[in-house]
Amino acid sequence: MTTTEMTTSFASPGKTTARAYGAQAADAALAPLRIERRELGPKDVRIDIRFCGICHSDIHFTRGEWGQVPYPAIPGHEITGIVAAVGNQVTGFQPGDRVGVGCMVNSCRECENCRRGEEQYCLSGNTGTYGSTDRDGTITHGGYSDHIVVDEDFVLRVPDSLALDVAAPLLCAGITTYSPLRHWGAAPGRHVAVVGLGGLGHMAVKLARAMGAEVTILSQTLRKKDDGLRLGATSYHATSDDATFEQLAGSFDLIINTVSAPLEIGRFLGLLSTDGALVNVGAPPEPLPVPVFPLLLQRRAFAGSAIGGIRETQEMLDFCAERGIGADIELIPASGINEAWERVLRSDVRYRFVIDNSTL
Ligand code: NAP
Ligand code: ZN
Ligand code: ZN
Repeated sequence: MTTTEMTTSFASPGKTTARAYGAQAADAALAPLRIERRELGPKDVRIDIRFCGICHSDIHFTRGEWGQVPYPAIPGHEITGIVAAVGNQVTGFQPGDRVGVGCMVNSCRECENCRRGEEQYCLSGNTGTYGSTDRDGTITHGGYSDHIVVDEDFVLRVPDSLALDVAAPLLCAGITTYSPLRHWGAAPGRHVAVVGLGGLGHMAVKLARAMGAEVTILSQTLRKKDDGLRLGATSYHATSDDATFEQLAGSFDLIINTVSAPLEIGRFLGLLSTDGALVNVGAPPEPLPVPVFPLLLQRRAFAGSAIGGIRETQEMLDFCAERGIGADIELIPASGINEAWERVLRSDVRYRFVIDNSTL
């Protein structure tokens, strides 16, 4: 029996049981378990998950680095798959459609941010794909599982020309870098630096280049230089080398910091030109001390950015499809998740692990 047949055979009414991979405690290895998915509501789409990317946020969250976790934790918010069933009021999707789900599965839809399509900044807080309290009071569980039920307003279309495996990381790593690149105007004639060449970083390089900007990679070492240039950067420097900070002082209009650990932000602010902005998308739990003089002397800005809204996520998927942009992935079976997490923690990822969910 295929996964499609299995999930469809559970069709409403009634909850369904999903095979999943998750952790029962902050220090526990991930292991197979079963979870319940809600009954298909009138506006819901049930998706057979084919692929799910491994984001560093999955690790921060599951390990309790960001705060209390409602265990069991089933992470995963870079989901692609095929629609298996739809509720009776769903208008945008039908069984067989190629779809994706990113980091959010709901929001209030009424606040000014939701109304302008920035649900990620919902003033009541968006509902995360995992670890959030859903509208029915249950805890959401993510894409390390064989199927998921999501309101159609939070389901994306994956264009036919994008393979589902390389498209999965676009749902978080793609949109998280696309959104600030657009907001701060990556374009021809603009110099963009990307700090950290991991999952987000490698997407930032591809996307900034596709937008026409000149791209520099700032990595801990020169180990991945060949890859960085192939991904679209025109220069590549090691942050372990003090000369980098002298040589590149005042060079960049925009710096996207994707690093998952605290950095000495003041050193990087010095690399911005007048009016330049350093945008932090990396989300380490520790505070980043920011010296003010590099900011005020050249009217520089230090900002943050979280994922992107649903409309912009669709725009990003269409942009990637038109230009043939997917993630560079290493496809793994579910049994390889724990080892993949260890490798992500060692900065040994080229450049996104993606789970083949048929192996769950
Ligand atoms: P990742 O694949 O592990 O990449 C992070 C990269 O940062 C590493 O590959 C490494 O690059 C560099 N790095 C790691 N530790 C470092 C250290 N101690 N010092 C200096 N550089 C270091 O992680 P990711 O999935 O891209 O996620 C990156 C961060 O973004 C995470 O904190 C994640 O939670 C966050 N995130 C935020 C959002 C948002 O909405 N803002 C969305 C998704 C993820 P090099 O080897 O090239 O130095
Ligand atoms: Zn993520
Ligand atoms: Zn809202």
